[in-house]
Amino acid sequence: AKRQGRGRACAFDARLDEDVRLRRRIETGLSQAIARDELSMVYQPIVTGARHEIVGFEALLRWQTEDHGPISPAVFVPIAEESNLIHELGDWVLDRSLAALATWPGQYVSINFSPRQFRRPHFVDDIAQKVAAAGIAPERVQIEITETAIFDDADRAAETLNRLRALGFRIALDDFGTGYSSLYNIRTFALDVLKIDRSFIDGMPRERESMAIVRSIIHLAQSLGLGVIAEGVETRAQVDLLRAAGASHLQGYHFSRPVAPAAALDLAHRRWLS
Ligand code: C2E
Ligand code: CA
Ligand code: CA
Ligand code: CA
Repeated sequence: AKRQGRGRACAFDARLDEDVRLRRRIETGLSQAIARDELSMVYQPIVTGARHEIVGFEALLRWQTEDHGPISPAVFVPIAEESNLIHELGDWVLDRSLAALATWPGQYVSINFSPRQFRRPHFVDDIAQKVAAAGIAPERVQIEITETAIFDDADRAAETLNRLRALGFRIALDDFGTGYSSLYNIRTFALDVLKIDRSFIDGMPRERESMAIVRSIIHLAQSLGLGVIAEGVETRAQVDLLRAAGASHLQGYHFSRPVAPAAALDLAHRRWLS
């Protein structure tokens, strides 16, 4: 038993080593990614539930490496989040997103901010200053944060959100339903929109539980005067069910994948999706 135990420990150590090496490589690569011009932004339309009018776009970061091809933000954002790299990436994302927004006829841009960015001192001042310098109305900028961002220090998070909202920014709570104390959060914090996590939409219409949860979130949002965006809508059946349930906004591959800036501009002018 002892031998077996040691063997397992060794395999585990080897895997850890491998992980650490991979993280280091990603970190090093990321720190050079901007200078090497390996980053880009794509934009995914957000449409109204009833007529599928494009009212905004979510800004999503892409990293194309020379040696390893594309690496998903689901992999590299959490690594960047562990160091100050996230600030450099975040500033780049904000600059690019505001530049794209300035070309659209009226839609808003919805930008993801990681917990570390959200908690950075001067977060509000920095974003307000950039938006003002670009001559953009804060109403056209939606700030997406997850429940992790507001979990640690509720008082400070509440203050940050209140200041952002007083300036006119919209606040969306991302991945809603998957975090800690979702109900506590919507009671306590100044929010405009709940983004229903893709995992719930994914279960529709197969799972009775997912359907029930999605309906309840929509109902809750309506009662509280919040908007909802259902994420990850992939099928016609989901569109119809969400419409019947009263979802105010939809986003997902059924309407459009995230697309490059030029294609997003075309969509922005086209205005409606089927
Ligand atoms: P997220 O914020 O929850 O973004 C939604 C993800 O779902 C995106 O993945 C999007 O491409 C994908 N998606 C949209 N519609 C569908 C659909 O119908 N089906 C499926 N299967 N997927 C769909 P992506 O672009 O790979 O981003 C993954 C995560 O990386 C994001 O999750 C977000 O947490 C993070 N991320 C991406 N860009 C940024 C950024 O600029 N800043 C920060 N802080 N995080 C980012
Ligand atoms: Ca998001
Ligand atoms: Ca999400
Ligand atoms: Ca997510």
